[in-house]
Amino acid sequence: MARIVQKFGGTSVGDVERIKNVARRVKSEIDLGNQVAVVVSAMSGETNRLVGYTGEMGALVDAREYDVVVSSGEQVTSGLLALALQDLGIPARSWMGWQIPIHTDGIHGKARIAEIGTDALSERLNGGEVVVVPGFQGVGPDNRITTLGRGGSDTSAVALAAALKADRCDIYTDVDGVYTCDPRIVTKAKKLDKITYEEMLEMASLGAKVLQTRSVEMGMKHGVRLQVRSSFSEDEGTLVVDEDEIVEKELVSGIAYSKDEAKITLVSVADRPGVAAHIFGPLAEASVNVDMIVQNISEEGRTDVTFTVPNGDLSRAVEVLEKSTEVNYKQLISDPDVVKVSVVGVGMRSHAGVAQNMFQTLADKGINIQVISTSEIKVSVLIAEEYFELALRALHTAYGLDAEEV
Ligand code: ASP
Ligand code: MG
Repeated sequence: MARIVQKFGGTSVGDVERIKNVARRVKSEIDLGNQVAVVVSAMSGETNRLVGYTGEMGALVDAREYDVVVSSGEQVTSGLLALALQDLGIPARSWMGWQIPIHTDGIHGKARIAEIGTDALSERLNGGEVVVVPGFQGVGPDNRITTLGRGGSDTSAVALAAALKADRCDIYTDVDGVYTCDPRIVTKAKKLDKITYEEMLEMASLGAKVLQTRSVEMGMKHGVRLQVRSSFSEDEGTLVVDEDEIVEKELVSGIAYSKDEAKITLVSVADRPGVAAHIFGPLAEASVNVDMIVQNISEEGRTDVTFTVPNGDLSRAVEVLEKSTEVNYKQLISDPDVVKVSVVGVGMRSHAGVAQNMFQTLADKGINIQVISTSEIKVSVLIAEEYFELALRALHTAYGLDAEEV
């Protein structure tokens, strides 16, 4: 007998028929003699709708009430799934975050899970009952409902799996696993059987939307066996595992991209101590997330500084810099039409030439690289948006990732 956490995303619970389908998938684990805790998202589109309502109430949204409203989508699906399971003759009960309890910190709208009480759930699981838990929600130190940030039900599932010491955490979604690249753009993309936590973490934070970044961090920290799979097919998904479980390490496992990037260049700023602090300090204060940064060697004491921010932060960033009296520059150039393309693989730790292959491939296609950044297991470049699909396909081929023709 195994203890399993199953998580179903928004499309998997998108309507009543699909919730009944989920109940059947839960039943097949029960029929194998396993204990099952289920974590559900809101029906697809529902959270956006709820967020929209709060926006219509006025400009200043009280985060506590925001959480009350937007957490409700998951409450609905968890109750409906419990009913669907009961209808199949399976004892099932829903448990809201505060009932379990899932304790979080007090950052409403973006809370982090602190601790999960497992006594009540364990008792029910041991008694053969399915427990159904709404993802995305917890309870804060003020005893009020909190939510974990968009996409947070992945994190709920992994945290619950860790707390319940589950043997596996299956994340059911609308894709059948993690791919070498977005298959909508690169048709030769392959499904990976296994990927390491670290690679998955990079892929998730670089724009691959299969899993919320924080859920991967949590899985890595607690060694939760994660599997990403489709609720619409019986196929095996992708296992997210420790590096030592992968025998043949690829140099590059996947290629990720993020269109949510904008570039700002400050032309001719003074090259002296304190300038970077004066540029990036006020941006940090305004909660602008700066990502890639390049600064040139100075000529006659002046230099250009280029950096990227998320698209949504661009206007705020420009405003902050235009207001600043401490940074002097000749010109501020902003460009929202850029994409960050990244190649990721743990194998590159021990191999040279991965970055060079990327640069050469892009050069051969005549694609200009605007900014470069690297870490131990990834190389990222910023390129013009109009070339990013071409870049993804060329890189996918260059790193030998293309699926064989069938
Ligand atoms: N329903 C929430 C959202 O859309 C949480 C989730 O589905 O992961 O962000
Ligand atoms: Mg999701």
